[in-house]
Amino acid sequence: MLTRRLTLAGALALGLALPAAAQDTAPKIPVVASFSILGDFVTQVGGDRVEVTTLVGPNGDAHVFQPAPGDAKKVAGAQIVFVNGLGFEGWIDRLVKASGTKAEIVVATNGIAPRAMAKEDEEGHDHASHDHGKGDEEHDHDDHAKKDGHDYDHGGHDHGGVDPHAWQSVANAQVYVANIRDALIAADPAGKAAYEANAAAYTARLQALDAEVKAAVATIPENNRRIITSHDAFGYFGAAYGVEFIAPQGVSTDSEASAKDVARIIRQIKAAKIPAVFMENISDPRLVKRIAKETKAKVGGELFSDALSDDKGPASTYIDMMKNNVAQLSSALSS
Ligand SMILES: [Zn+2]
Repeated sequence: MLTRRLTLAGALALGLALPAAAQDTAPKIPVVASFSILGDFVTQVGGDRVEVTTLVGPNGDAHVFQPAPGDAKKVAGAQIVFVNGLGFEGWIDRLVKASGTKAEIVVATNGIAPRAMAKEDEEGHDHASHDHGKGDEEHDHDDHAKKDGHDYDHGGHDHGGVDPHAWQSVANAQVYVANIRDALIAADPAGKAAYEANAAAYTARLQALDAEVKAAVATIPENNRRIITSHDAFGYFGAAYGVEFIAPQGVSTDSEASAKDVARIIRQIKAAKIPAVFMENISDPRLVKRIAKETKAKVGGELFSDALSDDKGPASTYIDMMKNNVAQLSSALSS
């Protein structure tokens, strides 16, 4: 900022007109997004004016993320830190405090009606029994998460019964975009027109995507719109588009899941005649594959739940992620 002012003063002193490129070389606003999907939203709205740094990257699991010193540095240098909220980033408050940042913390889900986490499934299995209020159990899970990073039966999903995965509804994604737009305008009023134009163009693409997802789900026979995923990430998608997602929440996704838990899920799949089970990009596929093997359910491919793919993958943007997910659902469930 200081450099820019001096340059401007120097140019004026010399009586020179500012070069047309001055705007292009202006420093970008440094912002942080807590995870990759949110990082894409911020990039779409911020365009050329912002430099987006993401904490939990592609295929990363924000539930069990453990910030490193480098993350505190990223947060310290940011002007805005965008978070999902709804308890998704259980580690964010400590990270913000440790970083000493002056950044504004913007909760991108503000204004979204949160879903309650399902407490009971159709068999009356009590998911609440997997809450982690019990100290011993929680320590076990923490150790486990450190070991392999694949434990969704973790405190991260126990956040006052609110489901954080709001981005899985495209209508909600438009709320994220509006919140991001407003926060960027507040931080950088000179970019107002650009942020408004970017947000409007992206929102139009999201509206088209929403219609596309609805049309694709409509082609799936109604009885087939029920699937198993490893963790409970698709509640908003299910509510918005009429697909029932049953997640064996409370079962570890690694190979050490107890025989009793696996047997219970298998009974549930058979009783409810669930046609397909899906893997997730952020989770270990072995349990889901094993369940599929022991039931007649087919493995329906990989869904992107809490993170984008890397650039080479099929879901490196939010729009591609939703298209990939609905294509996976359609191809597995349509026959
Ligand atoms: Zn999740």
